[in-house]
Amino acid sequence: MDFSGKVAVVTGGANGIGRAVALGFARGGAKVVVVDRDAEAGAALAAEIGRGRAIFCAADVTRAADVQGYVQAALDAFGAIDCFHNNAGIEGRIAPTAEYDEAVFDAVMAVNVKGVFLGLRHVLPVMIRQGRGAVVNTASIAGLVGTAGMPAYVASKHAVIGLTKVAAGEVGPLGIRVNAVCPGPIATRMVQDIARQVSPNNPESVEERYAAAIPLRRYGTPEEVANVVLFLCSDLASNVTGAQYVVDGGRTSAPALGV
Ligand code: NAD
Repeated sequence: MDFSGKVAVVTGGANGIGRAVALGFARGGAKVVVVDRDAEAGAALAAEIGRGRAIFCAADVTRAADVQGYVQAALDAFGAIDCFHNNAGIEGRIAPTAEYDEAVFDAVMAVNVKGVFLGLRHVLPVMIRQGRGAVVNTASIAGLVGTAGMPAYVASKHAVIGLTKVAAGEVGPLGIRVNAVCPGPIATRMVQDIARQVSPNNPESVEERYAAAIPLRRYGTPEEVANVVLFLCSDLASNVTGAQYVVDGGRTSAPALGV
């Protein structure tokens, strides 16, 4: 996909899905702003993409000042924001609602909901001024169906889909598109952490059991999610807005029986 002449901002861009999206934008010729609180990995990725083609901006997406900081850094470096992957997220703990830690609940909502809201709050005005732009928020299949033991994560990802629909309705008339991507299990640090929480002594067994319920019988890769994010940001998706694109190997449509 051709992104030459475009500027793309990716939050949570230092690792996992965001990293694959940042590299995909760069391959397509975009200027890339990698935003993350992981300064080491973020700076390394910007250096890998190359001087003049990418910058790294250290930011905690839960803090409005940091969000304004990465928006301004993108404008100072490259003069516009055409594509925005609002992607940073955390999983929290695995525990039933009846035992869930309040501080962990707040932390998950702060990153996954407030962080996505603040991204929209500060990037959309730029796109409105430009009269163009495309946003993809990273939700999850946990934004469409529940998973026992993940009350904060599931609630937060349902909220991301709500924010996506509202923003799409607001800025659609201005020619700006806002969509959500809903990955199923994707091989990143996040699912490894979840597997360690579910089965500390045998985390591999969690992947085996979970993959057995997926029609494609495997976890997805960050690149497979990136392909859909890039499509949604591209002109190929010019009539797509307010949508939830599921990238889950068929997990939510047709989970295997008896797994
Ligand atoms: P990851 O842990 O590899 O990457 C997440 C990145 O976000 C990290 O670089 C991390 O430093 C950054 N981040 C976290 N909190 C931040 C904050 N407050 N400010 C700035 N940066 C912050 O995980 P991933 O799997 O690539 O997750 C990316 C997104 O995809 C998340 O929103 C996650 O909920 C979503 N998702 C992941 C999966 C999966 O199976 N991996 C499935 C569905 C949805």
